[in-house]
Amino acid sequence: MPDPTSMHRYSDETERVAQAALAYARERLRLHPVPLDGPRTAAELEAAAGQTITPAGLGGDAALRLFADVLARATVSVDNPRYLAFIPAAPTQAATLFDLVVAASSVYGGSWLEAAGATYAENQALRWVADLAGLPETAGGCFVQGGTVGNLSALVAARHAFLAARGGRPHGRLQVAATDEVHSSIVTAAQVMDVDVIAVATDARGRMTAAALEAALAEGAGDGLFAAVATAGTTNLGVIDDLAGIAAVCDRRGIWFHVDAAYGGAGLAAPSVRDRFAGIERCDSFIVDPHKWLFAPYDCCALVYRRPELARAAHAQHAGYLEAIQGGGEWNASDYAVHLSRRARGLPFWFSLAAHGTDAYRDAIEHTLTVARAARADIESRPYLELVNDPDLTVLCIRRTGWEADDYRAWGARLLEEGTAFITPTTVAGEAVTRMAIVNPRTTRADIAAILDTMA
Ligand SMILES: *Cc1c(COP(=O)(O)O)cnc(C)c1O
Repeated sequence: MPDPTSMHRYSDETERVAQAALAYARERLRLHPVPLDGPRTAAELEAAAGQTITPAGLGGDAALRLFADVLARATVSVDNPRYLAFIPAAPTQAATLFDLVVAASSVYGGSWLEAAGATYAENQALRWVADLAGLPETAGGCFVQGGTVGNLSALVAARHAFLAARGGRPHGRLQVAATDEVHSSIVTAAQVMDVDVIAVATDARGRMTAAALEAALAEGAGDGLFAAVATAGTTNLGVIDDLAGIAAVCDRRGIWFHVDAAYGGAGLAAPSVRDRFAGIERCDSFIVDPHKWLFAPYDCCALVYRRPELARAAHAQHAGYLEAIQGGGEWNASDYAVHLSRRARGLPFWFSLAAHGTDAYRDAIEHTLTVARAARADIESRPYLELVNDPDLTVLCIRRTGWEADDYRAWGARLLEEGTAFITPTTVAGEAVTRMAIVNPRTTRADIAAILDTMA
């Protein structure tokens, strides 16, 4: 009779696989630059990997080899310094190493009862972020999967607070105000919540201004308006909305002021751009993704509320089997977002911050800003290139004179095919262009120059 506990015992085979898995992880961390790798078709993967789930199992060694030789090579290495598409990630060595530790520790991160130590550490990391934004000591929140869940959770809290304060539903539809430069996840959140988005016009740089918000509200706001969403570092253009002006409008209207700083929030730690965030200290909630420019591995979004008790009222789940964790006044991370079971996903970020200190973060973020400024100058110095946006941070949108959408696509595909760089196109005001987002401190000016050379 086979032993039903064999998978859970630390056996000789486990020891062998542990050696191999840890050696693989160590080698992956040491590689620099790590190969970009890239996608394969499902048919190619079928041919190379075949059926991997079988009644008898492949054995850990064989499955790990399959991952290393086939599957990992069919995934793009987001931490490659020439990965400049979307928003890259660039976890520190410490953060990635500690992710291994978190995985081995079997932490249920949802409640203080089960995860007091983990929550204490996560809350200190959140505190650093809240301090950067200038929120009061009483602010707090939790780490969630990403900006998408962070934005949704913040808006659900905002709606709950609005309805509770009002004592009932409005006559009209529930509404949030946002520009069309907000991240797609805001539109998704509104759809999930079945609320309407009042469209606010942007200025020439793609920013929301107080005047535009006022004008949009004068035209479109009903009695169901409950929040405005500003962005501090838009994904496409890298600009920061007029946060102070928007805060004043929200104050006057008595509506919730949410700031989506998923990408740009790291800039709060950089003295050279900190003043552009003036007004963020007046927000009711904000998010920043450590898995973007704060050097944590996926997946990790810091969600912070000015008044966490309002979020708890919206999000805490209640049931007989949860009574053991509710009612004690303790800090349950599960109470502050749309989630219950959760990985203690703030811990890799906490460990790296604790190990290196916040000065190292400031310096690494400033360094990426310096590289982005140099890249901007390089672009502006080349006759065949033009910068399309005027960014506050590290996103650069680039026009190659004479190129159309297909040219940008083909060029980007070729770079990935060659393993030279990963860059994807975008559109700005309807025009196809290309775009680079720089968040990796190991991306150099020479990397950028080499890529720009291939556009000549
Ligand atoms: C990336 C991003 C998001 C979404 O975050 P995910 O972690 O991908 O869910 C939201 N807002 C902004 C501004 C972003 O850049």
